[in-house]
Amino acid sequence: MSNAQLLNYLNGEWCRSGAGEHLDILNPATAEVIATMPLSPTADVDAAARAAANAFTEWRQTPAGERVQYLFKLKTLLEANLDDLARTLTNECGKTYTEASGELRRGIENIEVACGIPILMQGAYSEDISRGIDEILIRQPVGVVAAITPFNFPGMIPLWFLPYAIACGNTFILKPSEKTPMTSQKIFALIEQAGIPKGVVNLVNGAKETVDAVLDHPVVRAVSFVGSTPVAKYVYSRATANGKRAQCQGGAKNPLIVLPDADLEEVARSAADSAFGCAGQRCLAASLAITVGEATSTFTQAMAETAVSRRVGYGLNEGVEMGPVIRAESKARIEKLIQIGMEEGAKLVVDGRRVRISSYEQGYFLKPTILEDVNPGGQIAQTEIFGPVLGVMHAKDIDEAIALVNRHHYGNMACLFTRSGAAARKFRYEAQVGNLGINVGVAAPMAFFPFCGWKESFFGDLHGQGRDAVEFYTEKKVVVERWPKG
Ligand code: NAD
Repeated sequence: MSNAQLLNYLNGEWCRSGAGEHLDILNPATAEVIATMPLSPTADVDAAARAAANAFTEWRQTPAGERVQYLFKLKTLLEANLDDLARTLTNECGKTYTEASGELRRGIENIEVACGIPILMQGAYSEDISRGIDEILIRQPVGVVAAITPFNFPGMIPLWFLPYAIACGNTFILKPSEKTPMTSQKIFALIEQAGIPKGVVNLVNGAKETVDAVLDHPVVRAVSFVGSTPVAKYVYSRATANGKRAQCQGGAKNPLIVLPDADLEEVARSAADSAFGCAGQRCLAASLAITVGEATSTFTQAMAETAVSRRVGYGLNEGVEMGPVIRAESKARIEKLIQIGMEEGAKLVVDGRRVRISSYEQGYFLKPTILEDVNPGGQIAQTEIFGPVLGVMHAKDIDEAIALVNRHHYGNMACLFTRSGAAARKFRYEAQVGNLGINVGVAAPMAFFPFCGWKESFFGDLHGQGRDAVEFYTEKKVVVERWPKG
């Protein structure tokens, strides 16, 4: 696919977009152009929406048990092509091969759960709600639905939505990230091989104009979005103003609380994986550590050792543990935030700036960075950095630590490290956050649990994955029936 111009997939055909403009897709480890992508205009979104609308009638009448047969095929194809997909993902996104294949595996788990739709989508029936009257609850698909996805999980996040949407009988449009659209091209080639009927799934490449066309299209009934908070808010308000259902997952700033009784070696390992895995470009990345009491003196030292030893480089090379960030602008922004953190009074314990990776001098590399004594009200504590930077703060006790978590405007994830069941329960009870980890550094819900975000990390009513996805992708209809005797 080298330097290829990416195509849209509309009504079961690979189509060249009518776009006047194209974007370069870069390998962030080398800064080389590896493909170009069309900024698809409204006409392409309209073609996708019409194809999806035309396919809907036949698809919703296809029994759920038959619909999921296509998903079983897709799962097998994804597994057979995992190596190729993971390499593509590493080349466009920067993460390591291990991270890329792990991500794809998490995506496939959503297909596995969606294969249970014949049961998950069942309705309910009550006899004799009044004498001789019965009541039935039926779930029906919503219609044409769309997903708009971010750059950092180009394999997994489209699969948070696509399998549930089509298993429930909807037809689907994907608008992948304009920074990492190549993995979707490959997944759609497998969708074609799986024989999913034409028009049931459609792919439109593009950026803001393409998103706006999706949000304004009258045929699109529901929108799933994952990305940064300002765009999530915008997508939510524009989609709902246009009468659509919307579930919009936003950004994050995830704290880890470390109590003095925690196993420090284990904490350092988990915290480093959380803060520096995927180069910190994860919505579940730890970005702040709040140490309590004596944990303060030992934690930073243990973390510093782990940070310094992390091997940074091109994600397909043997032994590399952390890849680059996505673009030169992201690297410059992260470096600026580190500088601001120091100006706000933080101490730079490990400095990951000014990195030179031999043979990859043009890549957008940073190394793990640790700032200590971060000002809780300052920018470094409040802003999503989306890079391998951990800020350390201190609290006198667990109450103060939980208060710091709860004061934050984001609510995606928080973790606690302790040996105390009472402390763990208190944290579970009081933390105002959607995904909690207890002695776990990345609290990623399995596909059969919802991916919950609170506060500025989520806009909508129903999250993605599992039963919540079925709620989102189905309309409920209630029928009250009385039949004359005789
Ligand atoms: P982004 O918001 O820049 O882009 C996400 C999507 O929105 C892309 O498809 C993009 O084309 C589109 N978009 C961008 N600007 C737009 C605009 N002005 N109008 C309409 N559409 C627009 O996000 P990103 O940089 O690709 O991804 C990183 C962000 O995603 C981080 O904030 C991260 O926390 C968040 N994220 C959240 C979750 C979660 O589950 N909460 C998961 C992964 C990533």
